[in-house]
Amino acid sequence: MLLVCSHRCGGALFRALFAEVELDASGAYQDHRVTQPGYVCLNCGAPALDLGEVPAALEEEAREEEAAAVKADVLCPVCETMVQLDANMECPNCGSPLEVA
Ligand SMILES: [Zn+2]
Ligand SMILES: [Zn+2]
Repeated sequence: MLLVCSHRCGGALFRALFAEVELDASGAYQDHRVTQPGYVCLNCGAPALDLGEVPAALEEEAREEEAAAVKADVLCPVCETMVQLDANMECPNCGSPLEVA
């Protein structure tokens, strides 16, 4: 795990949002368990990111993008904008629905 503040404020302390803390009979901290990943920066309150998890997530995203990277250039019949189509089948300029020829 490598937590960093999403605002890059330099804060080095973070709080787990979903953690169970185990105490002894006098209330002294014994142990804790993080029940869900989710952390905030104690310095500025921004959500913290776990850089240890990011490479795997990025890799997955890249794989998905590769699979979706079937693009075609289409001329919008309404406003005559050259549009690169991918999953989004609308003209970004005028919003007309487009079809890949
Ligand atoms: Zn911060
Ligand atoms: Zn258009």
